[in-house]
Amino acid sequence: MLHTIKSDSHGPLGAPMAHAVEACVHCGFCLAVCPTYQEFGQEMDSPRGRIVLMKQVLEGGLAWSAAQPHIDRCLGCLACEPACPSGVPYRDLISPFRAVAREKFARTPGEKLRRWLAAQTIPFPARFRLALTGAKLGKRIRSLVPKDLRPMLELSPDHVPPAMALARVTPARGERRARVALLAGCAQQVLDPDINVATIEVLARNGVEVVVPEAQGCCGGLAWHTGDLQAAQKLARRNLAAFPADVDAILTNAAGCGSAMHEYHLILRGTQDEARAESFRKRVMDVSVFLARLGLRELPSGGVVRKIAYHDACHLANAQGVREEPRKLLRAIPGATLCELRDAHLCCGSAGTYNLDQPETAASLGAQKAQAVIATGATVVASGNIGCLTQLRAHLVKLDSPVRVRHTMQVLRDAYR
Ligand code: SF4
Ligand code: SF4
Repeated sequence: MLHTIKSDSHGPLGAPMAHAVEACVHCGFCLAVCPTYQEFGQEMDSPRGRIVLMKQVLEGGLAWSAAQPHIDRCLGCLACEPACPSGVPYRDLISPFRAVAREKFARTPGEKLRRWLAAQTIPFPARFRLALTGAKLGKRIRSLVPKDLRPMLELSPDHVPPAMALARVTPARGERRARVALLAGCAQQVLDPDINVATIEVLARNGVEVVVPEAQGCCGGLAWHTGDLQAAQKLARRNLAAFPADVDAILTNAAGCGSAMHEYHLILRGTQDEARAESFRKRVMDVSVFLARLGLRELPSGGVVRKIAYHDACHLANAQGVREEPRKLLRAIPGATLCELRDAHLCCGSAGTYNLDQPETAASLGAQKAQAVIATGATVVASGNIGCLTQLRAHLVKLDSPVRVRHTMQVLRDAYR
């Protein structure tokens, strides 16, 4: 698409944004896969429409306020990327645009407060745990809580599992085949700490030594996807320093975190850490990819024959191109049948803080995904992202469904036992 964006006037992120706009040929192949185009049915809530809006804003011909509601409605699910025949790197446009927009577009006080609360709690496990306890009290006085904060109450779980400490180093069982460092995640540690326990057990059983670096922190994904570039850079730098060099890979078991870490080069673009970020991101890998490539040394015993539905987390399938590896691992469980979901390309509506910022759309997508899971007749649904797991659990409960929601590593670990 022709444009007159002056890249230099938008800082180091100007050039990637301009390149993404240039690559779009306006063909519209991306519209069919976009969940918000499906929900709202208008061009401005489609990938192509958003690209035009962002182009016009960056050129200076459209007010930020005119584009922002449509940019806010974008889930960042990146379903538009694999669907695009021209290879438009939409991720190079949407998150940088949000970072630039943060300085230009004034939010309402309620939105500011909600975003501030999310940014100050979710990335920090101790604070997040405390906030969830506070939310339990908040539910009792819901009518007194400001309207903008009520989605936070709706989404907070009634039960928060106790924290589980992770060993700094877990040795491989038997002969060591590899040594990895694991990102423990922040929200995941609080919402479902067993995911890390299961991940480490599966890795150790397969001859992998697992290091959990003490100085690590949040991946920065939440900050990056909501346009807080400074916070994202701070968190990215912390992880650049925290992870050791003497490991075969840096593993993540939350798709959103893995996707954000793969974008550290963009987050730190134009800074003195850009080159370090570039080499760091190449070492980051989802645990399913690492295990599938390494090969399972110990095959799960299976036990209960069951149907397992698999939900593609957008930040695994679209952002990291990881589709086959988790399926391959799940198919290795004797007696298990893997079920595909209808409309598998559609996001479940979780998408970071999307279900706080756009609760109606998130709820509509969550309900559709839960119905698709139920339609498979599976007894378990597996996925590789804590946001998706939490969203699926909430919507399956609303539909009175007994389907269990598990991380792929939990399903594998349970099969070993
Ligand atoms: S499919 Fe790609 S090139 Fe076509 S309109 Fe969508 S983003 Fe642009
Ligand atoms: S990231 Fe998802 S919601 Fe946003 S434009 Fe692309 S497909 Fe649509």
